[in-house]
Parts: sequence; C-alpha cells; structure tokens
Amino acid sequence: MCGIVGYVGPDEALPIVIEGLRRLEYRGYDSAGVALVVGDGLSVVKRAGKLGELERALDGARPSGGSVGMGHTRWATHGAPTDLNAHPHLDCAGRIAVIHNGIIENFQELRERLEKDGHALVSETDTELVAHLLEGRDGPLLERVRATVRELEGAYSLVVLSLDEPDVLIGVKVSSPLVVGLGDGETILASDIPALLGRTTKVVPVD
Ligand code: GLU
Repeated sequence: MCGIVGYVGPDEALPIVIEGLRRLEYRGYDSAGVALVVGDGLSVVKRAGKLGELERALDGARPSGGSVGMGHTRWATHGAPTDLNAHPHLDCAGRIAVIHNGIIENFQELRERLEKDGHALVSETDTELVAHLLEGRDGPLLERVRATVRELEGAYSLVVLSLDEPDVLIGVKVSSPLVVGLGDGETILASDIPALLGRTTKVVPVD
C-alpha cells in the first residue's frame, strides 16, 4: 500500500502533489502518476519507476494551471509495474480518474461483469474497475461513489476525480489509511501525514 496525495485549492496542484508524493517515498513504490484537471480535460501522466521518471515525462509536457489534482505511488499487487498499470486509471471516456491503495478482493467477478457489459479495460489492475463501475452510474458523483463502494470487497483507500464535478475530489477509506489536511483555503487528501506537512499541520484522520 503506497502513496496517495490529492489537492483542491487556489494554487497549482502539480508541484504540491509531487512534493507530497516525495514525502511518502519512504514507503517504497514501483511506479507513479498524476491526474490533473486542466481546462476542460483531464491530464494524466504515469510512469513505471521512481518519481524522477515521472518528472522526466512531465518535463516534456508539463500540464500547468490545474488547481485540482491527485498523484499516486504504486506498489503493484494486481499486474506488473508498468506504465500502463500505474495509477491513475480512467473509465472508457477518460472523464473519471481513480487512484487506489490496497486490494479489491472481488476483482475477478467485477472485471468479468464489466467486460460483458462492453467496458474496455486496458490495465491488469483491480483499481481500473472502479473507474468503469463509476462510469456505469448516474447522479451526483458522491452518490455514484457510495453505490460503487458498496460493491467492492477488500481493504483499500481511493481518491476519485471526475470531469462531471471538476472542482471536487472524493476520498474513500476502508481499512487503509487516509487523512485530510485543512490548509489555508485548500484541502489535501493523503495516505499518510508526512505528505501534508509542507502545507498544513491541521490534520483530520478519516475513521
Ligand atoms: N492493487 C492496486 C494495484 O495493484 C494498488 C496497489 C497499491 O496499494 O499501490 O495497482
């Protein structure tokens, strides 16, 4: 279970997310990625290897201006540590991004159902299922996340970002750590407290 950082606030999200991920490097990881709302779209960059690999990829096409974003460092449980399996994962339309720590135990049965329903799953991960399950639901994002989580078995934390509500990040915690940092006009979600400490010392652990 590795690193999660999400940012919503007035500043540019990318440097804050990368700094947060750096502060979680002590946990170990095999790949890293970010998703940011930039203009009307989602910008997703992910790479196998250390954060330096991700930063090199970002140097070529640095998405700037987004003040809502999230990043992840992965420790592979489902699928090899490749660029494709790195998080964030997207739905078919590329409108919903999900990062995830932990394991979704009923992954096989959910994957089979999604494939039967015509979803194109591109990675080997359990994480990607969540984006496609969300895609299949209507209504406010929070309700879609609640309904989707009811279908998942396992111990995990998730963060969801959707272009349907681009100024919101939704965090989910089921037996895997997630904390909320309350900063000056900004909110940060993370899998552990060190990720927040560059921005705030007001930390709310999610029960
Ligand atoms: N099970 C997920 C995967 O293999 C998340 C692993 C993690 O906690 O980093 O991608």
